[in-house]
Amino acid sequence: MSEKQTLGFQAEVSQLLQLMIHSLYSNKEIFLRELISNASDASDKLRFEAINDASLFENDSELKIKVSFDKAARTITIADNGIGMTRDDAINHLGTIAKSGTKEFFAKLSGDQQKDAAMIGQFGVGFYSGFIVADKMTVESRRAGTAASEGVRWESTGAGDFSVEQITKEDRGTAITLHLREGEDDFLSSWKLKSIIRTYSDHISLPILMQKEEWDDEKKEQVLKDELETVNQASALWARSKSEITPEQYTEFYKHISHDYTAPLTHTHNRVEGRSEYTQLLYIPSRAPFDMWDRNKRGGIKLYVKRVFIMDDAEQLMPVYLRFVKGIIDSNDLPLNVSREILQESRDIKAIREGSTKRVLGMLEDLANAEGDEGESEKEKFASFWKEFGQVLKEGIGEDAANKDRIAALLRFASTHNDSDAQNVSFADYLARAKEGQDKIYYVTADTYAAAKNSPHLEIFRKKGVEVLLLTDRVDEWMLSFLTAFEGKDLVSVAKGDLDLGKLEDEAEKKQHEETETQFKDLVEKMKTALADKAKDVRITFRLTDSPACLVADENELSGNLVRMLKAAGQ
Ligand code: ADP
Ligand code: MG
Repeated sequence: MSEKQTLGFQAEVSQLLQLMIHSLYSNKEIFLRELISNASDASDKLRFEAINDASLFENDSELKIKVSFDKAARTITIADNGIGMTRDDAINHLGTIAKSGTKEFFAKLSGDQQKDAAMIGQFGVGFYSGFIVADKMTVESRRAGTAASEGVRWESTGAGDFSVEQITKEDRGTAITLHLREGEDDFLSSWKLKSIIRTYSDHISLPILMQKEEWDDEKKEQVLKDELETVNQASALWARSKSEITPEQYTEFYKHISHDYTAPLTHTHNRVEGRSEYTQLLYIPSRAPFDMWDRNKRGGIKLYVKRVFIMDDAEQLMPVYLRFVKGIIDSNDLPLNVSREILQESRDIKAIREGSTKRVLGMLEDLANAEGDEGESEKEKFASFWKEFGQVLKEGIGEDAANKDRIAALLRFASTHNDSDAQNVSFADYLARAKEGQDKIYYVTADTYAAAKNSPHLEIFRKKGVEVLLLTDRVDEWMLSFLTAFEGKDLVSVAKGDLDLGKLEDEAEKKQHEETETQFKDLVEKMKTALADKAKDVRITFRLTDSPACLVADENELSGNLVRMLKAAGQ
């Protein structure tokens, strides 16, 4: 038997607690959603582990969550019979934050409570949200399959440290008791708790039970009965038919699986039949996660097999360039004991990934091409999607050859047509404005919008009124090495090689150019000799109208911008 032990929170936990209590106070009922969400996750984990070891159920396989309150003691308790925690689990999971990018996230906080408050929701607050309404939390838990004497009691006032001690706990799972702060007595009511559960946790697939309450004519008040009732619908949300799910329920389900507090931008929900049978419910978040560029970032798709949770972060289910998509996929064909290794080789999984990729692209196309009354707001959604995730989507041009054309049609760029750095011009917009006889899509790449916009290479295009796309994202050069044409029109850099304006040049101009070339032949030869070790070639140019000279890259050479990028990357 080990003694009661007091341990300090990881620094980030203390910081999170401080910030959260202040920032989420106006939305404090979310604590119940978070604790129920954890109870549901714990039950999912037990069900998954029990596939290979049914003894973990300890003769109690009816998984459920119980919510109760005690008016006199001023406590609320959320109990589950899920996987439970060992003493070490409690120390590790309730004393530290395991999320990837935690340190970076906290380093980014400004110290300005209001600004930071807006960011904290994005981080996801989880278990610690209990401290918004409680000045003490007691967790009693026992891991499935361990002896009753191996239970643990974790306790903290949320002020820097917590204690752990060994206890005897007959029933497996976790019970979390909130000792309410002064003034939070509103929560000590059946009606209040039930309405919070129905609002935020209706989508939970396990029954959430509470004691029944009835009006007592003699006492003239509501009294609690010994009977329990199920407060939520208690069926997997994605298995219900679309018409029975409200937008709010879709949103709450998103928050449950994504740990994101902001409502998603859009979702798609389908039952797919055919060679491979599965249900998909996929969401596009409205904001990029703080760790989107973290290479070790976990994916956002949860895999279920016939309603049984199998794993988080099933990265085989979505290509890397769609790593921002969150959701669930529930397969009817995969075996319950499927492992990550099997997933890698499974043909069913390949079919699901291809199907899901197409759905996501379709969902984006629907936003981008929406028409009619609702069209405008959908298009705004697409613009906001592009701002948050456009750079990631561009990776798809190189990564997903099969869908390259569809992805290319979704790309948006800044352009000389507009007077701002907003990326809102598609290839289709560009081609619709193309000049008579223009059979190419012209672009320039640069480090910044200002550099692109002021590039001397643009002069001749301005003069002729030909639009040029301005590409300034880091991935652009890389992307362009995979994308050389759109709908049969070549993509041409205005800074590369012999600029062939084709039909945009008339006969008189061509003749004049030839005459000029003959006239300055000698000068060009002299300059070539003088610059022999610095430049490969010296040519008369007609692409400039105001600047006297500019550097151009050879047709088949890396452009100046890519050379700079590679140098910066140490290559
Ligand atoms: P998250 O749910 O995003 O992992 P939380 O802060 O909500 O973060 O929970 C932290 C961790 O504590 C969980 O990942 C889990 O390991 C553990 N935990 C919390 N509640 C329970 C519970 N009811 N049963 C078992 N483990 C739990
Ligand atoms: Mg949680």
